[in-house]
Amino acid sequence: MAAAATQDTLQQIAASLRSYLETLKDSGVGSLPGLTISKQATLVRPLQEQAALVAPAVPQPTMKKEEAVIMPTQTQDMFVASQLPPVKTLEGLRDWIGDCRRCKLCQARTNVVFGAGNPQAEVMFVGEGPGRDEDLKGEPFVGRAGQLLNDIITKGMKMTREEVYIANVVKCRPPENRNPEPDEIATCQPFLLKQIDIIKPRIIVALGTFAAQTLLQVKTPISRLRGVWHSYQGVKLMPTLHPAYLLRNPNDKRLVWLDIKEVLRELGRR
Ligand code: URA
Repeated sequence: MAAAATQDTLQQIAASLRSYLETLKDSGVGSLPGLTISKQATLVRPLQEQAALVAPAVPQPTMKKEEAVIMPTQTQDMFVASQLPPVKTLEGLRDWIGDCRRCKLCQARTNVVFGAGNPQAEVMFVGEGPGRDEDLKGEPFVGRAGQLLNDIITKGMKMTREEVYIANVVKCRPPENRNPEPDEIATCQPFLLKQIDIIKPRIIVALGTFAAQTLLQVKTPISRLRGVWHSYQGVKLMPTLHPAYLLRNPNDKRLVWLDIKEVLRELGRR
C-alpha cells in the first residue's frame, strides 16, 4: 500500500518535471546548467559523463548518442524548490515581485495583480490571469467573471471573499485577454507556487484549463480533469470550469456546483 503510494508520488513528480521541461522547451529554453533538455523533455548529459559518475575507474566505450537521465526524486524537489523566491510572507513575496519586468506581459499591463484574501485561507482559488477590470484595479476577479466567482463563494459555499484567497497563474493581464503563453506561465509560476507554499490551504480550487494544467503539470483537458480530486504537493486540488466559461455556457454551471459540493463535503460543511 505504502509502496504503491510512493510509486504513485514518484510518477506524479516525474510527470510534473517532464511537463515543466516541455514548457521550458516550448519557450525556447534548451538547457539548464550542465544539462540539455532533450526532444523528449528529459534532462540529458553525454553518456560518457553519466558513466564517469557511476564507475569512474572502468573505461567506457565511445557512445555517440545522448541518453535520458532520470533525475533522482530529491534532485527534482530541489530543482522545483530552487525556483521559489526566498521569502516567507505574502508581503515579502509581493516585494520580491516588485514592478516586475521578467516577461513580456509587463509591456501592456497597468498593475501587477498579486492576489487577495485571507493569508491563512483554507480554500484557495486559482484563476488564469487578470482581465481588463483586474488590470485596472490591481485585484483578481473583480469583473463579470469575478461577480460569478463571488456568487459561487457567497451563495454556493456560504463563505465570504475575505475568508478565501484568490490568485492567478499569471499576475499581469495578457493583451486583449489572450491566453497566457508558455514562457509567461513558466516565468510567473514560481510566484503562484510560493503563494501556495506560504498560505498552505487545505484545498485549492483550480479555475479552468490554465490553473489546473499548470498546477498538475499535465495537458489533460479541463473537461476530463474537473470533478475529481487531484493533489498538488499534498494539497487537495479540485479542478473546475472557469467562471468566464460559465458566462458563455450557463448550462454548465451545474457541473461547477457538483465540484463545489465535493469541496464543501471535504471541508465538512455539507
Ligand atoms: N479571469 C481570471 O482568470 N482571473 C481574474 O483575475 C479575472 C478573470
